[in-house]
Amino acid sequence: MTIFHFKNQFEFWGSPIKVLKWIQLSFQNKFADSKFSFKAASMIFFFNSKNSLIEQIHQLQMSTLTLEQNIIQTLRDVPDFPKKGIIFKDITPILSDPKLFDETLKGLVSLISEFEPTHIAGIEARGFIFGAPVAREMKLPFVPIRKPGKLPWKTKQKSYSLEYGEATIEIHEDALDQTNSTSQMNNVAQVKRVVVIDDLLATGGTSQASCELIQAIGGEVVACAFVVELAFLKGRDILEGLTKVKSLAIIS
Ligand code: AMP
Repeated sequence: MTIFHFKNQFEFWGSPIKVLKWIQLSFQNKFADSKFSFKAASMIFFFNSKNSLIEQIHQLQMSTLTLEQNIIQTLRDVPDFPKKGIIFKDITPILSDPKLFDETLKGLVSLISEFEPTHIAGIEARGFIFGAPVAREMKLPFVPIRKPGKLPWKTKQKSYSLEYGEATIEIHEDALDQTNSTSQMNNVAQVKRVVVIDDLLATGGTSQASCELIQAIGGEVVACAFVVELAFLKGRDILEGLTKVKSLAIIS
């Protein structure tokens, strides 16, 4: 039935000929009760309008929020994951909202542009989701910082404490040897100004280890940037001794 394809009332009323044709077809159908068909059409229209109205109010609410409020409101709290007592901030609802995902990426780009990076590093795995598109947007090389055993070439390794356990990360020894054409043209290829991107700053251990790895392979970490910062875990205090810290959304 054509009417099921209308997503909102504007689309519904925007195609009156289709609606009239559908009602006419309902009346013509010798197997159907015409009154029932008309009532069904009205009910479908009512539900379409109601759902679409709720959707539009929601969209209006979201459009009046700042990016920070929008991110915080969209995150999903998952209690006791991956361990009891941890409230996991799930970023997947941001990814499933193309507009917000796009705004988040643009927000990260504008947060870090002032540092004039030559490389963007992303921390596995959620740091890749944000870091790689930012690198692409800024036309800079992307450097993956990965879990052990994933990188195929010669690596440097660092172990550290996490909010919920211990972890180790690795980087390719030659990860910063790739430079972008702009920095080569400006003859500043020797200076490797790296911005480290991750989804979330908690205790700061992961980013601190990442900064140390980048320094170990000859880079300067000009900033660490996050989508979300859990300020109450004070990761910023650790990182600010090493570099600049920028976050799109701060949860205090
Ligand atoms: P940390 O080293 O304590 O700053 O932890 C940061 C890393 O662990 C990031 O890669 C986050 O993805 C992840 N992480 C730590 N705590 C959480 C949390 N509560 N919710 C979501 N991710 C977290």
